[in-house]
Amino acid sequence: MADTRGAGFSLDLHWVAGHEGATWNELTDARAKQAAQGYSSHSALLPGVLRAPSLKGKLPASKSAVLQQQRADLHKQWTTEWMSSPRYGKLRTFVPSLPYKGFLELTASRSKAASAAIFRFRTRHTPLNQHLHRIGSAETPLCPGCLDGDETVQHFIYECPEYDQARQALRRAAGRAFYSMAYLLSDKKGTRHFLQFLRATGRIQMDPRAQPRR
Ligand SMILES: [Zn+2]
Repeated sequence: MADTRGAGFSLDLHWVAGHEGATWNELTDARAKQAAQGYSSHSALLPGVLRAPSLKGKLPASKSAVLQQQRADLHKQWTTEWMSSPRYGKLRTFVPSLPYKGFLELTASRSKAASAAIFRFRTRHTPLNQHLHRIGSAETPLCPGCLDGDETVQHFIYECPEYDQARQALRRAAGRAFYSMAYLLSDKKGTRHFLQFLRATGRIQMDPRAQPRR
């Protein structure tokens, strides 16, 4: 800017508070969102360097934009599923703010699989036999760990002797809050402890990439 001084050049600077509502910025956001969803302009409209046949359908996408988009989609999908779940009415009474504002904060630092696991437990749509049997995906509602009762969420977290060791660690980590399912399934710290428990039980497949090679 200093170089242009006195050269018949003038520059006005405007400070704008935030981008929200700025038309071109909104349009750019919308296009960026489309790109993150995998859309691309017709190749005839792209600049020459991007039209090479070798690039066809392979334009690189921003990893963070794609992740952000996935999370937003997931959030939307879950909120919809959650609101239409019969559990919503029941759970709302003991988890006061659902669908709650902390959702993104709670899931942002977690893998999709971990977030999904917590959500399933919260809605009781778990990959545990009681639910699987109810939807016709398991022959029996019985717990495969102890064969001594239906494999409900309650049984899995608090009762099944098969997971005593993992449960002791959870109790140590959570303290008195251990007895609150709402804490384990909704609180930021609680869900962290719960995920550790879940991994320790080995009952739920959490992250397919973490599978040992066969
Ligand atoms: Zn059991």
